[in-house]
Amino acid sequence: MSVAISALQRSLGVHRVLEPVGVLPQAAQRLDADPAIGPDEVRIAVHRLNLDAASYRQLSEEHDGDGDRIRAAVLGIVERRGKMHNPVTGSGGMLIGVVDEVGPDSPLGLEPGQRVASLVSLTLTPLRLTDGLTRWDGRSEQVPTAGTAVLFARSIAAVLPDDLPQEVALAVLDVCGAPAATERVVHRAGRRPSVAVLGAAGKSGCLSLAAARDARAGRLVGVVRNDREAEALRAAALADDVVVADATDPLAVAAAVGTPVDVTVVCVDVPGAEHGAVLATADGGTVVFFSMATSFPAAALGAEGMAADVTMLVGNGYTPGHAALALDLYRRSRGVRALIEPRVRA
Ligand code: NAP
Repeated sequence: MSVAISALQRSLGVHRVLEPVGVLPQAAQRLDADPAIGPDEVRIAVHRLNLDAASYRQLSEEHDGDGDRIRAAVLGIVERRGKMHNPVTGSGGMLIGVVDEVGPDSPLGLEPGQRVASLVSLTLTPLRLTDGLTRWDGRSEQVPTAGTAVLFARSIAAVLPDDLPQEVALAVLDVCGAPAATERVVHRAGRRPSVAVLGAAGKSGCLSLAAARDARAGRLVGVVRNDREAEALRAAALADDVVVADATDPLAVAAAVGTPVDVTVVCVDVPGAEHGAVLATADGGTVVFFSMATSFPAAALGAEGMAADVTMLVGNGYTPGHAALALDLYRRSRGVRALIEPRVRA
């Protein structure tokens, strides 16, 4: 029996959900990734995926860093689910490609031939891969590939800039929600709040530091995991204090940060950073959990258990203007470029 789909449901992609019927695509087990598009959809010829850092780390650890097994796992997920939605981490990533066909009723304003990045998660994007991932060695987050993806009426996409290599634009756009969220929280916190970033030498971490500086934050603390990252972050000159601590060790994080800060931004790609972030944050302060490896029960119950009066925000991947803000920070900040470029393997 077919179920009538409303205009709102269609714009959100509910008509593409195979299982369980009626949920939104992000919550679905399986999507219909048929490349034939409806009148309000857009088909993208996919060139490259950027797997979410937490997802790639989980796959890599599960398969002992073996590129062939990681590749087979990604292929298996996409074939089974019709989308790249890691069942363990629940996270996806994003893609770039060329607009192939635009339905006559699509409101996205895209035109065939444009090079674009999807700014909605791979966890809700119908995806079909046609090359067996033969050009990917399985050893990096960026996946050169071929196939098709479908954007809905409510999806968002950005036309890729001409002045940056596509691998760089993809990496920056994947995490563009982090600097946008940081900027907003720093502005709202009022007079020059102090800010700590966990995972500060990573992609989202260094962009968040740069955004906090631009938003006129006070003391900026970058928390990194070892001396090598500390040296790189000091050379990038994005933080006032660079400290080394394992983000999963709450007491070590609190000791390293010292005087609790007004805002903490969690940008690591490993589980277990919730309690350290809460402990490093002053009463009345805010923690932004951008990491997809965050356990929200651990954050909420941990804060309660520590009697910590902190506001905790889920790092929303979407804030108006987030793509332009992140690309602009990348272009303007030599330190951000120095930290991100080595992480982007062509
Ligand atoms: P990234 O570039 O890999 O950066 C992560 C950083 O955390 C790296 O510098 C890493 O160090 C560091 N780190 C790992 N374990 C640590 C530990 N125990 N202690 C201290 N530092 C540690 O990752 P990214 O691309 O910025 O992504 C960061 C997070 O954002 C991921 O969890 C990802 O899922 C999430 N994300 C969220 C959204 C959203 O919409 N909310 C969108 C995209 C990504 P090493 O490099 O030495 O391992």
